[in-house]
Amino acid sequence: MTAIRIDGKAFAAKLRERVGEAAMAFAQSAGRKPGLAVVLVGDDPASQVYVGSKGKATVAANMESFTHRLGAETSQADLLALVDQLNRDDAVDGILVQLPLPDHLDEQSIIASISPDKDVDGFHVINAGRLSVGQSGFVPCTPLGCMMLLTDRLGDLSGLEAVVIGRSNIVGKPMAQLLLDANATVTIAHSRTKDLAGVVKRADIVVAAVGRPEMIGRDWLKNGATVIDVGINRLPPEPGKEKGKLVGDVAFDEASEVAGAITPVPGGVGPMTIAVLLRNTVVAAHRNAGLDAPAGL
Ligand code: NAD
Repeated sequence: MTAIRIDGKAFAAKLRERVGEAAMAFAQSAGRKPGLAVVLVGDDPASQVYVGSKGKATVAANMESFTHRLGAETSQADLLALVDQLNRDDAVDGILVQLPLPDHLDEQSIIASISPDKDVDGFHVINAGRLSVGQSGFVPCTPLGCMMLLTDRLGDLSGLEAVVIGRSNIVGKPMAQLLLDANATVTIAHSRTKDLAGVVKRADIVVAAVGRPEMIGRDWLKNGATVIDVGINRLPPEPGKEKGKLVGDVAFDEASEVAGAITPVPGGVGPMTIAVLLRNTVVAAHRNAGLDAPAGL
């Protein structure tokens, strides 16, 4: 059996198109475009790339992009003052503070200072709470993107056995919550789980969010399982190459011999994250303007 390759890149492109249309319709009724503010503190090269591509994607989706680049020495008070200003700015519907922040800044209190109604990353405790009790709020982009791929592939998830590997606040925990809301039977596995391979073998749905290159092999998977690989890991470069290959947490080729469907890395979950961020921003714009959320997003 060869698994179906779940094309996250194509799915994300279509989602971005729908978001762009919803943003255009919003601008017509509200008289302004939806706006996303992204705050970058310091000069971490990976964060600079992410922030740059978020800005471009925002503009491409017919939205206003506000990028704030602050020096690495920025104080907690100055960063809080900027977030406060963005909270009060009616042109800003979504606020994203790029993580990780430099060590001297307190990430939790910065996230807590973002208005929950503009928290398009879904990291605020109010939004984590809303997700946990089934109220509408904002759900972190990566797990929501995984969920879209899963429901697109499988339809109704009721009663399916799902194993989420990883329990981070930004991926594993919200992913498990979403699967539970969709009536799957959910297990959260992590670094202390005993017989991880045996636990994963039970799963109709495997979501791997660990950060360990190709940890999950053929023998861990049940025949026909749907595998969502969130991991992004760079292998050491081969001789003569500058950069190593990007791989997921799942050994793609061998897992494809057993799985029913699987996301590749790159081109699977990765492209969904920005697309869902744009989706959350256009939804925030509607809510903040007292309009109904756009259909089909
Ligand atoms: P994290 O480091 O916060 O969490 C990793 C989790 O894996 C922890 O809960 C830990 O308990 C678990 N873990 C560690 N070693 C394990 C082991 N040997 N067996 C079982 N579980 C183990 O990471 P994160 O932020 O949740 O990200 C996980 C991966 O997903 C990383 O590779 C990250 O780069 C990637 N990621 C991708 C996207 C995307 O857009 N595709 C977004 C976020 C994270």
